[in-house]
Amino acid sequence: MECISIFDMLKIGVGPSSSHTLGPWRAAERWIKELKNSNKFHLVNGITVDLYGSLSLTGKGHATDLAVVLGLSGADPEVTMTEDIHAIVTTVKQSQTLLFNNETSLDFNFESDIRFNRKFLPFHANGITFTASIKDKQFSSTFYSIGGGFIVKKERKNSLENKKIFKTFPYPVTFGKELLGYCNHLNMSISEVVLANEKSIRNNTDIDDEIHRIWTTMLESMYTGCHTEGSLPGGLNVRRRAFDLHDKLIGKKTYQTPQEWLLAIRDSEVKFRQILKWVSCFALSVNEVNASLGRVVTAPTNGSAGVIPAVLMYYLVIENHDANFTEIKQFLLVAGEIGSIFKKGATISAAMGGCQAEIGVSAAMAAGALCELMGGTPEQVLIAAEIAMEHHLGLTCDPIGGLVQIPCIERNSMGAIKAINAAELALETDPNNVKVPFDNVVDTMWETAQNMHTKYKETSKGGLAVKVSLSDC
Ligand code: SF4
Repeated sequence: MECISIFDMLKIGVGPSSSHTLGPWRAAERWIKELKNSNKFHLVNGITVDLYGSLSLTGKGHATDLAVVLGLSGADPEVTMTEDIHAIVTTVKQSQTLLFNNETSLDFNFESDIRFNRKFLPFHANGITFTASIKDKQFSSTFYSIGGGFIVKKERKNSLENKKIFKTFPYPVTFGKELLGYCNHLNMSISEVVLANEKSIRNNTDIDDEIHRIWTTMLESMYTGCHTEGSLPGGLNVRRRAFDLHDKLIGKKTYQTPQEWLLAIRDSEVKFRQILKWVSCFALSVNEVNASLGRVVTAPTNGSAGVIPAVLMYYLVIENHDANFTEIKQFLLVAGEIGSIFKKGATISAAMGGCQAEIGVSAAMAAGALCELMGGTPEQVLIAAEIAMEHHLGLTCDPIGGLVQIPCIERNSMGAIKAINAAELALETDPNNVKVPFDNVVDTMWETAQNMHTKYKETSKGGLAVKVSLSDC
């Protein structure tokens, strides 16, 4: 049984990609720990990094090389000031020296010591090998970035074993039907069951503090995105759209902080068209911040980081003006659990399953969570998640130029709107009439992922990535 906390599914990090940025960053940190544990760290006199498969093919656009350097430099993705990122990398490039874990100075050539290999390693499409030179010997260690910032070594089987030893929740869940079984047996909502599991590994205060930190980061990423003008980095000349959209929607309202901003939006009159635009604006804003290497919450990935904040914000500013931390917590507990079921039964890695694994999963997470807040039963919550995923099945990943911009940013607004619609449909559905059980859609997603052509799995070798010429952008 793999026990995944909601805090594994919702992690604070830096854009643009959980698998290609946060994962390699974390892998570098893990490798440093390995070297320290084996008493080799202080002996290292040179390092090289090999990126394989999708990490190599879209690594430039996804800032994988920058993330590796940041990880090797000892920077922490949760707290490093995003404004400092370019300064750290520029220093390494110009000085051809890397301050290994912020401790030891090593010669390091950014252009030649990070190698982009086109070949795929057998276990997973996102492979990364670190090699340390110690005297005249080389020591290599390979990691796989399996989506959502998760890192594994060797085989998934082993990782499952490790997790089994590590901890078992009181209400372990692999399938949706198990989750419903607990809810029915204990007469609890999904969020209550999930909270009981979280309490087995953290106390109440830590859970609330962490949820508060996650929500604050989400709110700040929306706020930043809505108040930042200009174009995104990377060369596609993509204009930030959240700023203009927000400017029209907010009108003359005044505010000083993200929290005051939220209250100001509550105070605005909204009809259907404005609701669509607000939700899109929230989603666009997060992913524009993500695309510019800003801080966002991986939910469950960075490419799809805008869906969950947009739907939760929709609930807070449109649906329920009295909502507060209680509802935010409830929403994130349900969303995290639904995401973990997809991670266990299918994948949250676009390199394994295309965009259905990112936007599809985030929409399912958001739909289920919104459904519970709107009064849905546990059965209806899973119906909402099922509907949201059902209409993302087969969605390909084909980012233009390997950048998490087109179609990624806009796709988050589509995922958020679909999630809201899925929640509404589920609330009107009698569970006895359901034809597609939630667990079947998880299985279907995984089967579709396995049959999807590699070119549509985060390689930028198919779809929009080849049909749209960079010179058109
Ligand atoms: S197309 Fe979808 S899965 Fe691919 S990078 Fe963009 S958001 Fe992620």
